[in-house]
Amino acid sequence: MNMISNSTEHWQKQDCDHHLHPFTDSKSLNKKGARVIVKGEGVFLWDSEGNKIIDGMAGLWCVNMGYGQQELVEAANRQMQELPYYNTFFQTTTKPATELASVLSEITPPGFNRAFFAGSGSEANDTVVRMVRRYWDVKGCSKKKTIISRDNAYHGSTMAGASLGGMKYMHEQGELPIPGIKHIMQPYWYHLGGALSPEEFGLKAAGALEEKILEIGPEKVAGFIGEPVQGAGGVIVPPATYWPEIQRICEKYDILLIVDEVICGFGRTGNWFGCDTLGIKPDLMSMAKGMTSGYLPISAVMVHDRIADVLIEDGGEFNHGFTYSGHPVAAAVALANIELMKRTNIIEAVKTDTGPYFQQRLRELESHPLVGEVRGIGLVGAIELVKNKETRELFDPAGEVGTICRDHCFASGLIMRATSDSMILSPPLVITKNEIDEVIQKARSCLDMTARDIASK
Ligand SMILES: *Cc1c(COP(=O)(O)O)cnc(C)c1O
Repeated sequence: MNMISNSTEHWQKQDCDHHLHPFTDSKSLNKKGARVIVKGEGVFLWDSEGNKIIDGMAGLWCVNMGYGQQELVEAANRQMQELPYYNTFFQTTTKPATELASVLSEITPPGFNRAFFAGSGSEANDTVVRMVRRYWDVKGCSKKKTIISRDNAYHGSTMAGASLGGMKYMHEQGELPIPGIKHIMQPYWYHLGGALSPEEFGLKAAGALEEKILEIGPEKVAGFIGEPVQGAGGVIVPPATYWPEIQRICEKYDILLIVDEVICGFGRTGNWFGCDTLGIKPDLMSMAKGMTSGYLPISAVMVHDRIADVLIEDGGEFNHGFTYSGHPVAAAVALANIELMKRTNIIEAVKTDTGPYFQQRLRELESHPLVGEVRGIGLVGAIELVKNKETRELFDPAGEVGTICRDHCFASGLIMRATSDSMILSPPLVITKNEIDEVIQKARSCLDMTARDIASK
């Protein structure tokens, strides 16, 4: 073991022998070996074989300001020198944690003035479950415990996060969901809309919430959670009628509305938050990923005054928190990241320039014989591959064709993710129009290769 090796095989062998990857079939990964990513700059990555890759996924939907941002590195360095860690449990705080809470209050919609920090999106959503239930207890409505979510939602991988999520394959491995979490249909017009127009279908999908509330009993329902645009489920942009109807139903039955901004937040849809773009007025917001552009892990639950005031005035001690809640180094990087986003006007660019350009170029792929639907908003989009464009018939089994396409992308130096047979793009917000052209050109050639593979089978 004293031989220092820097070869790809060395890292792959070590990885294979000792590293269990998330959401991965280790046996099949170990047969081929993991790709070793060694460097990033802007929207590009390099692997240990020297291949340059354009990152169409911003890491895992998070590297919003791209790789190699020195200001973020320096912010971490400075804070590490001064105070690498202190907790927020002992009636203590740190400067970065308080400043971040205050800055988040400025960039979130009016009425959001309080942040609870955690370490990941999953932990933020776990916090939501506990906070919402606590809120109703404090209000004297202790029967209000059930949280309604949606099929195919993604809210993380902890017990509560995975339970809130609507991924069947996750529920199957772990006796989930935990009690008190129910699911309704997702607003996925392309799959579920049938003969309805998107607008009609949006009302129908939202109506499923009212049906579920009445089935459970409104006096037992605590909240509804949804991603403004479902991310991991396949970039599902709901019809325009959907969110206003959800809002109306939540208000009618006195049910808290929680938006999971983990992907949509920090500029992805062309505003600071997805709820700004989609016109949602939530009670709580969970956020993570883009908060530090992925440079360090941190998350927050932003709590509207109407909830926070009750918890603060009448709630006493909230028996919940994490060692790393408000971690000063992560908070310092989040502050530097938000500052950089403001100074470069990146969100305005996503809204008026690169976002519309990306959507327009992406929609050109709709004419491709494999493509059933292209959907998206801002700098997030999906290309859904189907067997028959006219009848909207899907491939069976689902996911095979998506995987073929994804493998072509990886081999061609583009990271485009497959969710079943939807190809997903969510590039860093700093992507230029030329780089968007490169993504689209590579995506098209991979669609062609995929079509040839299917034809020759
Ligand atoms: C990624 C994600 C999460 C979970 O975040 P982690 O940091 O992986 O725990 C929650 N919600 C949404 C919408 C996500 O995309």
